[in-house]
Amino acid sequence: MTPLDSPCLHIDIGKIERNARAVVELCAGAGIAVTGVTKGVCGHPEVAAAMLRGGVASLADSRLLNINRLRRAGIDAPLMLLRLPPLSRVAEVVESVSVSLNSEQVVLRRLAEAAVRSGRAHDVIVMVDMGDLREGLRPDEVVPFVREAVTLPGIRIRGLGVNLACFAGVVPSETNMSRFVAIAEEVEAACGIALEWLSGVNSSGLELIAAGRMPARVNHARIGEAILLGRETTHRRPWPGTVQDAFVLRAEVLECRHKPSQPDGACAEDAFGRLQVFPDRGGRLRALVNLGREDVDPDSLTPTDANVVVLGASSGYLAVDVTDAAAAVEVGGELTFVPGYAALLRAMTSEYVAKQCV
Ligand SMILES: *Cc1c(COP(=O)(O)O)cnc(C)c1O
Repeated sequence: MTPLDSPCLHIDIGKIERNARAVVELCAGAGIAVTGVTKGVCGHPEVAAAMLRGGVASLADSRLLNINRLRRAGIDAPLMLLRLPPLSRVAEVVESVSVSLNSEQVVLRRLAEAAVRSGRAHDVIVMVDMGDLREGLRPDEVVPFVREAVTLPGIRIRGLGVNLACFAGVVPSETNMSRFVAIAEEVEAACGIALEWLSGVNSSGLELIAAGRMPARVNHARIGEAILLGRETTHRRPWPGTVQDAFVLRAEVLECRHKPSQPDGACAEDAFGRLQVFPDRGGRLRALVNLGREDVDPDSLTPTDANVVVLGASSGYLAVDVTDAAAAVEVGGELTFVPGYAALLRAMTSEYVAKQCV
């Protein structure tokens, strides 16, 4: 290990491909096309390519910077912008992606102008908020919104979308998905258009699909976490046919010493403004590794050795209890962790963490 490649996030490209295939096959059985979501890996081109080999029909990301990274790397699959387009960058949106998710008429008008100006058709999925309180129109706003949007030149209303389980954690159900389909049918009748795409779910919808209870008209899913980390996202259960360790974080041990498990002295706030309580577990062997809150979310890290326990982190240190570690831990040695979604996102974003595809 050289100083330059620690800490390092190892990405097993074959495992990503396998996970993508399992998700795509499940969805295909329900007539659902899958768009692979790359925002969890900042639009990492090799991960995106693995998703495509695994059978996803297209790719989506929430940030134009990531979209541009995919394009620059030569990925030529259709790309979708997941986050609502910023009014300030409509021209770039039309330039970079063929489809975007939308909920504001003023943005659609400007996207339409940009599309006409550039001579590129731009496809739009109108987002409906079915209760999670993130993006989208309330159900009773959809018909008037689409009625106005279909008159705009340059853009095509290709479908409706819904996103759940992200802001409030609302679980996709037969009930809310059926209501979503009913709204789509109302729009078709009122506006005289056919909606090609009903973009129903993210990784939180896999259980509903597997149970055979997803309404038949829902024909599109935008899937990130289930492919990257092999989990559905309502209970973070490992998904059948996928693996959970496509990503492994390796960090170097900087200190390894016996210390008491409780602090000595009156305690106030820690470096991040929290008042912490530490149970008395007696003297323990504690290791500090070269990861911190700048690089990971310590609450979303699972040591690969089940006997190692994450104790906490400051900006640049992660403290772990290695008293019961299966293998001897020493300074200069290495500890490995499987990241959850929050840790993956931060590790991918941190320029202090090397990324290596294996
Ligand atoms: C992030 C995101 C997804 C993917 O969610 P996962 O839980 O990672 O599958 C899908 N749709 C939208 C709109 C998103 O923002």
